[in-house]
Amino acid sequence: MSAASARAPAIFFGHGSPMNALPGAPGALAGDARYAQAWRALGGRIEKPKAVLMVSAHWYGEGAKVATTPAPETIHDFFGFPEALHQVRYPASGAPALAEAVAARIGAARDAEWGLDHGAWSVLIHAFPDADVPVAQLSLDARRDGAAHYALGRALRPLRDEGVLIAGSGDVVHNLRLMDRRGEGFVHPWAERFHAFVKARIAAGDHAALLAPQGEDARLSIPTPDHYWPLLYVLAAAHEGETPHFFTDEIALASISMLGVAFGV
Ligand code: ZN
Repeated sequence: MSAASARAPAIFFGHGSPMNALPGAPGALAGDARYAQAWRALGGRIEKPKAVLMVSAHWYGEGAKVATTPAPETIHDFFGFPEALHQVRYPASGAPALAEAVAARIGAARDAEWGLDHGAWSVLIHAFPDADVPVAQLSLDARRDGAAHYALGRALRPLRDEGVLIAGSGDVVHNLRLMDRRGEGFVHPWAERFHAFVKARIAAGDHAALLAPQGEDARLSIPTPDHYWPLLYVLAAAHEGETPHFFTDEIALASISMLGVAFGV
């Protein structure tokens, strides 16, 4: 990068259906071109980062792991989708040096196997369509709570000043069991309320309210924490005074929030 000191952004993507990787595909599961467009526009308006550190909902398990893979494979970690989606490859290189820096900062275990899961590539394929930004993934440690994930994100924040884009990919409302295709625009009221609550707390800079949200709306929106926690890394990587930019802001299939927010763009 020309400006070595340029601070890279922190970005949370609401990724929704894997088919959003393929907005032109035919059929009922077709991806939504508006999300692809928003991700493309976002990628186009920022200076190209040196690397992406990606925390995806789809790498979730025991312990924090960081992928040192130099040439990560495109992982097709879904079922019931068209063959065309299984054919997609996102050939970005890995970022082993970044992975080492992450391991050193937070004590994450090194993982030499993990490729790029669809939480990562379904959005990066639009944000960086030339696959010319190296990517390292960090897993979500199921044993930690929201505050602990936030603390990890804060420990990683200085990487932004080395040109590393800190990215999270999930959905702040993610209830697959209550998805509903009954018609354009139907949204569960609890999903709408929780989405609005999260957005308002982000806008107010009130991260404490988002570490472990309580109540019925939260319970329905976060049946498991994997899609919610990536947001906490991005919030923790934001600096005071950075205005959140909401680049996607709606609910798909009645129970999947597509809320996306960027800092430093
Ligand atoms: Zn997902």
